[in-house]
Amino acid sequence: MNEAELRAALTETARRTASHGLNKGSSGNVSVRLREGFLITPSGLPNDALHPDQMVAVDMQGQSLGSLKPSSEWRTHRDIYRARPEVHAVVHAHSPHAVSLSCLRRGIPSFHYLVAAAGGKDIRCAGYATFGTQTLSDAVLAALQDRRACLMANHGLAAVGATLDAALSLAVEVEELCAQYWRAKLMGEPVLLSDAEMDEVLERFKHYGQRGDDRQDA
Ligand SMILES: [Zn+2]
Repeated sequence: MNEAELRAALTETARRTASHGLNKGSSGNVSVRLREGFLITPSGLPNDALHPDQMVAVDMQGQSLGSLKPSSEWRTHRDIYRARPEVHAVVHAHSPHAVSLSCLRRGIPSFHYLVAAAGGKDIRCAGYATFGTQTLSDAVLAALQDRRACLMANHGLAAVGATLDAALSLAVEVEELCAQYWRAKLMGEPVLLSDAEMDEVLERFKHYGQRGDDRQDA
């Protein structure tokens, strides 16, 4: 995709974080890799009323072009693109169930096989740090080790992918897993899948590939 197409796709993804109920108002942010840097949603503008011209280009030194300020979490996005060459899109959300679970500073254990959609046997919760800081970025990167999603303590969730669609659908899936885990915990202690059972799911996901619809079919 060229830059104009990426701007349009990023705008559409930010709108979908609103329509999917992941982000309300101007909370959260979305980015996509562009050449030597990335495009990211602007700071403080509502997700459901963005325009492609408002997407902010940021380089790997953190310099941005244009009059609008990039999202305050640009540093986390930059550091993910630096550390993870396979990642081309990042979705960050303050979705209600992920936020609730993150406030307990608890990740999601292997209570459901789709936890493996994030790439491992659990989905970690990154330690707390003030938004926009290097400390927060470092914590998120550590929680994303060998994973494509994590919770962020007292904050929300982050999901990454090879495409905007993949990162968004994983963010939706993680929010849903948080809601399901919460409901199961209300009724008792969920029975967790064993390491061997999760290994089998992870192996099957490799065989199926990365497509979310394949996983949902299972
Ligand atoms: Zn945030």
